[in-house]
Amino acid sequence: MKSQTHVIEPQGRIKKLTGHTRIVGVIGDPVAHSRSPQMHNAAFAKAGLDYVYVPFHVRPDDLAAAIAGFKAINVVGINVTLPHKQAVIPFLTSISREAELIGAVNTLTFVEGDIHGDNTDAPGVLQALEEDENTSGTPVGENVVVLGAGGAARAVVVALALRGVAAITIANRTVEKAVSLATEMDQKTGVSMQGMGLTDERLPLSVRESKLLVNTATISMDVTQPLLISADWLQPNTIVYDIVYTPPVTPLMQAATERGCQTLGGIGMLVHQGAIAFEKWTGVAPCTETMRQAL
Ligand code: NAP
Repeated sequence: MKSQTHVIEPQGRIKKLTGHTRIVGVIGDPVAHSRSPQMHNAAFAKAGLDYVYVPFHVRPDDLAAAIAGFKAINVVGINVTLPHKQAVIPFLTSISREAELIGAVNTLTFVEGDIHGDNTDAPGVLQALEEDENTSGTPVGENVVVLGAGGAARAVVVALALRGVAAITIANRTVEKAVSLATEMDQKTGVSMQGMGLTDERLPLSVRESKLLVNTATISMDVTQPLLISADWLQPNTIVYDIVYTPPVTPLMQAATERGCQTLGGIGMLVHQGAIAFEKWTGVAPCTETMRQAL
């Protein structure tokens, strides 16, 4: 029987793997939930590039062997998801300034023996904000509030600080995490930051005076939960950006719209962080609309 090597692409097309097919992928534990294979394989097909994007389930104890293996077999690039975003750093030969400040890497590029680490969440969050026709871009020189102090908040805070916002208030359920992140990033970026709890009496004024409010707290995914802030604090000229992408319109975005604010959800960031990695690996800018549709 004649054997065939192929991958079923989104929309049911069949991609033939050739002797020239270049390999990229994602590592995580777990990894099966990742939507990146759909998104990247659709964009490779659209661009006519002979690349394939594969999910690799890599357990923490196997990380070193996996990275060495990718290098040995000339994999072009790898996205890194939980729990490896920090653990992968010792295996790199170079790292971008943003990834170093954030302390986490989500994209590896293998070039001639070099293993370079980037964090594309940081530019991704800004590109999504800046391409949106309803927002007026990144509020350079203005005050910003960030809700949450986890991994995504680190990328958002670094991105906004390096782009030149005036001051950032970080508010989080666990106060110590907000204070520690604000202290660390204030020192590292030189941008004024304060950390506080969600019930802090200074938070209403910080929200009222902000030009942009970014939510990074996972609670936005649960539509049954109350908002972390009072919608009354939001001014109509404040842009409300929820990077949580399920649901596409979160309760915070809904409440902000009712207050007359412009809002933005997390799908754009998801697409752009992937598009930036795609371009690093291939040298070609992908069709972001194809990536968005694949998601
Ligand atoms: P993480 O490191 O686990 O941080 C979770 C954050 O949510 C923490 O600040 C946590 O507060 C807060 N939180 C969780 N439950 C809460 C509750 N019941 N009340 C108040 N705060 C609560 O997660 P992450 O990596 O930062 O990701 C955060 C979200 O961003 C996820 O939904 C993720 O899917 C999304 N994200 C989107 C993109 C994109 O491309 N659009 C990229 C990255 C992440 P404590 O510190 O008090 O626990």
